[in-house]
Amino acid sequence: MTDKKKVLFLGGDGIGPEVVAEARRIAAWFLEHGLNATLSDGLYGMSQYRIDGRLISVDVLMQCKQADAIIFGATGGAEIEALPADVIESGGLLFLRKELDLFANLRPIKAIDALRDASTLKPNVIKDVDFVFVRELCGGIYFGTPRGIETLPNGQRRGVDTQVYTSGEIRRVARVAFELARSRNKHLCSVEKSNVMESGKLWREEVQRMQAEEFADVELTHMYADNCAMQLVRRPSQFDVILADNLFGDILSDCAAMICGSLGMLPSASLSAPDERGRHNALYEPIHGSAPDIAGKSLANPLATILSFAMALRHSLGAAGDADLLEQAVRKALDDGARTADMAGPDERKLSTVGMGDAVIRALEELSAPSAQ
Ligand code: NAD
Repeated sequence: MTDKKKVLFLGGDGIGPEVVAEARRIAAWFLEHGLNATLSDGLYGMSQYRIDGRLISVDVLMQCKQADAIIFGATGGAEIEALPADVIESGGLLFLRKELDLFANLRPIKAIDALRDASTLKPNVIKDVDFVFVRELCGGIYFGTPRGIETLPNGQRRGVDTQVYTSGEIRRVARVAFELARSRNKHLCSVEKSNVMESGKLWREEVQRMQAEEFADVELTHMYADNCAMQLVRRPSQFDVILADNLFGDILSDCAAMICGSLGMLPSASLSAPDERGRHNALYEPIHGSAPDIAGKSLANPLATILSFAMALRHSLGAAGDADLLEQAVRKALDDGARTADMAGPDERKLSTVGMGDAVIRALEELSAPSAQ
């Protein structure tokens, strides 16, 4: 029997604990049905800050480094935004991503038939959409220095951020994107603004060189980020894998969320480089934030977090069959009419967060019943 995989659940802030609780119930269901894993829980964000003035304890950070998969809810909100900079710098989500070296962020975007009408895009535009964003997560303008706000001698204030990438940072995330494209339809679209940014020029040159040297079987195209924003709403089915830096990947993938009808539907995986045994640090989270406007009301859609757990099953827990089953169960729950408020039409019944978790568990039971096989 192989070692049990370790799964750590961190709810975080706002709706995070509500949506993670549903993913945890799903994980418990898989444990009862043979998944070889242990589940544990940790505090993160304001709930930890109220205890000792830090967003993450030393113990939980250690657990993160030992876990095979972290299932993370969300962080953010007015209280977090009012904290001193040093608290954020030593415990915020960017710190955690950097500490675990989670440089490759995978965000699958797949149109779901049952949610055709929840999308703001026309059904013929979103038909057959199935692509993956690979977003660089540990570099670029969110980390570059110098940064800060200063007061100039003339009394004006000046805010500075620095967009910076090394060839090594570009190549390691490009490798993830090329390999993913190779396992799919062999088309990679690399996004930057090399027309106006030096880091964009370097990005394009490095990606082009890698293709020539190692990935000649993958068709590579380059697209300016502004054009990509337009193409995502014009003809999203043209994409297979999109590679983007930290900033452009953040913005463009939120835009693409509307293909699926709601921000509450999109999962993600953030991965480090594999070690010699093939193990990654891995954090799985919905792409949405802490949604303070609906926190604590059991209105949040937990499906992005549940689908993030499906990604963990596939990429970190060696359970691709379980991942397929869970994705099928989410589709079935939606086909059967389960909707939370964010994706319900005016006349449709709206489920609570827990109600949606129940609907997925019911679908899992039905799909795994002997008569369904
Ligand atoms: P948000 O994603 O939290 O919310 C945007 C809108 O989508 C809100 O109207 C919200 O109610 C809705 N929404 C989001 N998730 C939903 C869900 N699961 N079900 C139903 N509706 C949902 O973005 P925001 O309002 O711009 O940011 C709020 C806070 O979250 C900010 O502090 C921001 O910094 C933080 N944030 C954190 C993360 C993260 O933890 N990875 C990501 C994005 C934003």
